[in-house]
Parts: sequence; structure tokens; C-alpha cells
Amino acid sequence: MSNQASKATLNKQVLEFNVAQQLKQQGGAPRAFVIEDAVLPFMDADLVLLAPLSGLIKLIKTDTGILVTGTLSTVLELPCTRCLAPVSVAVSMEIEETFTPRVDIVTGGKLSQSPDVDATTLISEQHILDLTEVVRQSLYLAQPAQILCKEDCLGLCPQCGKNRNQVQCNCTEETIDSRWADLLALKNKMTD
Ligand SMILES: [Zn+2]
Ligand SMILES: [Zn+2]
Repeated sequence: MSNQASKATLNKQVLEFNVAQQLKQQGGAPRAFVIEDAVLPFMDADLVLLAPLSGLIKLIKTDTGILVTGTLSTVLELPCTRCLAPVSVAVSMEIEETFTPRVDIVTGGKLSQSPDVDATTLISEQHILDLTEVVRQSLYLAQPAQILCKEDCLGLCPQCGKNRNQVQCNCTEETIDSRWADLLALKNKMTD
């Protein structure tokens, strides 16, 4: 029984790393992972990946845990700031985060955590370092402040909401010029 689709899904990388052996070592060389087609095991409505995550991730043993560094890239589908049309945006993220173990790798005993520890950077009791949540948060930070479907996007009409790139509406521009508004305010003040 061969099923191409499910096979492809199984071959997808997830951003989880077993760090049991590395936690037992005293320092040692960083482990490097080439990420070619990683996927996120969830779907955020406002986080649409048009391409798998790719890049290089390095895991380095430190005194307190595992330092993760690296760069990941993907393509996001984001709405145009002016007209909300979907736009493909290539994004790149620098990752630098220290993960600490929940349990002692030798004794298996629970390690005490400081009260302000971020649960997303804790290594599981099965010694799995899950980078998913860190990457998810980085994907939001990596988004540019302004996204335009085209440089001269006309945006949505503020009155009828129609996309002015597609239709020419008959709304009249009745916005009050801010300088005129200032003059009106001054005039009202003087006649008081
Ligand atoms: Zn636009
Ligand atoms: Zn209009």
C-alpha cells in the first residue's frame, strides 16, 4: 500500500530535536542541522506559510542547557497594508535561544525552575527540544511593518470599502483638510 501524499507528509521535518546525548556531554562540538522542508504542526489563521522552512540550526551545549542559534527562511502570505490583497513575502529569522532541561539527564529527577521561566524554552522530560513555538513567535517578528501588493496600490475606499485597484467608485472625497480644521477651530475660539 503506497500513498504518495501521506508519505510526503511523513518525510516532512518537524522542528524537534532529541538532545539526550548532548545533555550528557561536557561542552563538545555544536550539532548542526540542515533544515530543508520543515513544517509547523499547527495552523494559525494569520500565519500562512507558502514555502517550507529552510536554513541551518546549531545546538550548542552550555552550562545551563542547550543554546540554539541559526537562521530560518520561508515565504509568508500576508495582507497588503492598503488593500488587504494577499501578498507573498519572503522572510528570514535569526534564532538565538537557550533551552533548559526539565529533568536532570543523569538522575531523571525534576529540576527546579525559576518562576519566570518561559515554558516554550524548556526541554521535555523525554529530552526533546521543540523549537516550534520560538519559530512561530519569530515569524510574527520577522514580518515587515508595511506590505504592499504593488508600489502604487490605491488601497480601499475609506467610504465604501471597495478595492480602488479594481473598481472606480463614485464616492466624493469629503475629508476635511487638517489645516482647514485648525483654522475652523481658531475661528470658533475667536468668536466665543
Ligand atoms: Zn494593495
Ligand atoms: Zn468608494
